[in-house]
Amino acid sequence: MPEGDTIYQTARALGRALSGRRVLGFASRMAEVARADDERAFAGECVVRVESRGKWLLMVLAPAGEDDETRQRILATHMLMSGSWHVYRRGEAWQKPRDQARIVVETDEYEAAGFRVPIAKVYTWVQLRRERKIPRVEEDLLRAEFDAEAAVKRLLACDRKSVGEAMMNQRVMAGVGNIFKSEVCFAERVSPFAKVNRLTEPQARGLVKRSRLLLEANVLEDSGDRIVTYRGRKRRTTRSADPGASLWVYGRRGEPCRRCGMAIERELQGDGARVTYWCPVCQPQPED
Ligand SMILES: [Zn+2]
Repeated sequence: MPEGDTIYQTARALGRALSGRRVLGFASRMAEVARADDERAFAGECVVRVESRGKWLLMVLAPAGEDDETRQRILATHMLMSGSWHVYRRGEAWQKPRDQARIVVETDEYEAAGFRVPIAKVYTWVQLRRERKIPRVEEDLLRAEFDAEAAVKRLLACDRKSVGEAMMNQRVMAGVGNIFKSEVCFAERVSPFAKVNRLTEPQARGLVKRSRLLLEANVLEDSGDRIVTYRGRKRRTTRSADPGASLWVYGRRGEPCRRCGMAIERELQGDGARVTYWCPVCQPQPED
């Protein structure tokens, strides 16, 4: 599943290609988006900007030449497990068949295509602020507005939940998925299965801080003026230069821990059965 870093980079690439551009063509086979387009056509409007909020991608559109925020509409998409946005220069060969795109936004220079996008909604800003599912700017680990102390409080308030589940709650802090959850817990030597009420405040602060650091480290690489079309990318949480040693625990079941040599374990955690990797020696679970 794309995590916060992937969505951030996707938003950056889409924003670079589309921001300030007039939409020349718009098509969607998703009912709610198509309905919004019927009510007021997106074609002819301008893309104001594209931003990410945790795992949500927001494309802000407005009638050309209008500054009034109340006239803006926000196309919000969530990729869940399999969705992705691609950006192509006009005329460039697409990596997937065109008729598989569920949303297409065309400008004079670029085309953006959403493939297997499972969730797409259109909001005004008033509606978006009421939407509980979409994180606020200050809850997003990758935004300058991120409020770490408030996130620590929200994390500690999940007291009877496990650390792993609480970290995945996007309203506690937005952007962490299975990979960063596993890697951050390992880096902080905290068991993902410990109950939050067993955490000390410095531990909670450490988890929030490390989540932010690792997400940021994975979006630093910027492509400059180049627009990156979608492609797989490799995350790194260790400092190793060896590409085969880029992660501490994720995906390494049965392999030796990079710190202590013990076999890494894997389990499906919580109601969502979210995959979690950890080292039983470096991250001992406190006795209840
Ligand atoms: Zn270990």
